[in-house]
Amino acid sequence: MSTFQELGLNEDLLHAITDLGFEKPSDVQAKAIPILLDEDTDLVALAQTGTGKTAAFGFPMLHKIDVNSRTTQGLILSPTRELCLQIANELKLYGKYCKGLNVTAIYGGASIHDQARSVKRGAQIIVATPGRMKDMISRNMVDISKIEYSVLDEADEMLNMGFYEDITDILSHTPEDKNTWLFSATMPKEVSRIAKDFMHDPIEITVGNKNESTSQVSHEYYLVNARDRYQALKRLCDANPDIFSVVFCRTKRDTQKVAENLIEDGYSAGALHGDLSQNQRDLVMKSFRNKQIQMLVATDVAARGIDVDDITHVINYQLPDEAETYTHRSGRTGRAGKTGISMVIVSKSEVRKIKSIERIIKKEFEKKEIPDGMEICEVQLMSLANKIHNTEVNDEIDKYLTSINELFVDTDKDELIKKFFSVEFTRFYNYYQKSKNLNAPSSSRDSERGDSGGRGYGSSANETRYFINVGRKDGYDWMKLKDFLKEVLELGRDDVFKVDVKESFSFFNTEKDIQEKVLAFFTDFKHDGRFVNVEVSEDKGRSRGGRSGGRSGGRRDGGGGRRRRDDKPRGDRRSSGRRSDSGSGNRSDRRSSGGDRRSSEGGSRNRSDRRSSGGDSRRSENSSSGFDRPRRSRRRD
Ligand code: ADP
Ligand code: MG
Repeated sequence: MSTFQELGLNEDLLHAITDLGFEKPSDVQAKAIPILLDEDTDLVALAQTGTGKTAAFGFPMLHKIDVNSRTTQGLILSPTRELCLQIANELKLYGKYCKGLNVTAIYGGASIHDQARSVKRGAQIIVATPGRMKDMISRNMVDISKIEYSVLDEADEMLNMGFYEDITDILSHTPEDKNTWLFSATMPKEVSRIAKDFMHDPIEITVGNKNESTSQVSHEYYLVNARDRYQALKRLCDANPDIFSVVFCRTKRDTQKVAENLIEDGYSAGALHGDLSQNQRDLVMKSFRNKQIQMLVATDVAARGIDVDDITHVINYQLPDEAETYTHRSGRTGRAGKTGISMVIVSKSEVRKIKSIERIIKKEFEKKEIPDGMEICEVQLMSLANKIHNTEVNDEIDKYLTSINELFVDTDKDELIKKFFSVEFTRFYNYYQKSKNLNAPSSSRDSERGDSGGRGYGSSANETRYFINVGRKDGYDWMKLKDFLKEVLELGRDDVFKVDVKESFSFFNTEKDIQEKVLAFFTDFKHDGRFVNVEVSEDKGRSRGGRSGGRSGGRRDGGGGRRRRDDKPRGDRRSSGRRSDSGSGNRSDRRSSGGDRRSSEGGSRNRSDRRSSGGDSRRSENSSSGFDRPRRSRRRD
């Protein structure tokens, strides 16, 4: 194996490498660095997340630029602010002995004028997100007309995020004869297109198989009913007491909601998504890095910058739309030579996606069962026993020992242990004692659907057809309605189907097993100031229900009653809505006043308060929306 010395890097860089403790180049570094040092060439490098790509382009760029000049010579584009900052910081570390080096990070959400000033001071290297870069170019705040080296880092992700136009635009302000180095984990069509359109005979290097996921990661999936998703998530966490994980959700809304629920349920969790302020995001990331947050609930976009090495589990709360995105997600764990587990919680309608992901990552998923309550209790108990066994004794306790001993004078050791453990254990036990099995039976239909990529339109036994009182006149077509339903009900792309939009009402289908959730959700649901009413339709198929009788045509009750579940307690749907609304408000307050750490502690305390004041009875009804009350103590000390 080669050493960094052999790759030909200069003394200043080698010195920094020693400080960093990098012993030998990673594969992608060993391949890319000599090429980039020796040749003026374009390069396409494909390597998984966590393989050291930053150094693979960073060292050659630092080696080649002239630090005595104040001209901007290197431009690195990366998809997110976090990544941008991370790269800039790495480069500063790599170049700490390069006297006069000025690396500037340019990204949205911070003062553009400060960034412009930093560039003006003579930034030889700019690390930027495409959006802010474009902005600064149009305001003449940067001059990239003398760029010699441009890097497109995480190119696949930048394109995923729709930055193609921005990249084109930015590169049009750079010289034709610069070198472009493209780094990517995967090589979808769009990346090849960039390579074709913007690069001249690039040398291509690949580390590992293209599109192959990191080998240290094992992949598991858990089949549950859609309504049990959140419960399943909690069980997976409880079954892994030392979990340190990123939980991926598909939308910002889901991300926020899942994080809020976890916090309320006493987990040390935090949300990371684009609707949070920069400051909030920084705080969350800081808590996560410090392991004060055990579960970081994130969107794909926001999570791109996460470079935390010890993540034990990646949990796909929902599968991403693109199988490629799964590669990125699972690449968050199993970094730096460690092993990791990528877990996927799927409902029946999503099982077939597992197959297509397996094809892309060229690895098989193991189908696993959500542990039952008693297994979790056992795991928790043993984990507690180990923790106590390994705890360093605090001698401050000595002075209270006599009085404590007096208290336990008649208690033998076994009983003492039992009592001691019960403090923590009983909560779990009570919670899980009567818990149900969350594993959905895998039906033969799943395998039938296997590769078809579509839904068997013939079968409707397991489906529910609904009537909904919005239609074309409300501005919906089938796609918009489907998107709307998916969003509010937090469902996946395939969970709402056979959407049939009429003038003033519509129909749609879901799997029968989420019927309850759908109906519960739409009790008293208002959208744009009007009640949106959803009812089960008699019209099972896709016949043109309601042809003559207007909206009542397809309805079950035909009674014209707006909300036929008026007899149901009002609290349920509303309280869940309110909780999430006010929750986010409170949370951001709490967060801005000192970060998530406290909010998670507050969560636990509040919880017991609320419970003792009888809040639970209403809560338990929320279980129909999938967010049941767990009982959970604060996780980390
Ligand atoms: P990628 O961009 O491929 O996802 P990074 O460049 O972020 O990966 O590197 C992942 C981690 O590995 C970082 O913490 C980085 O400091 C570390 N690293 C990079 N190169 C080496 C090396 N040669 N030896 C040890 N650690 C390295
Ligand atoms: Mg990287």
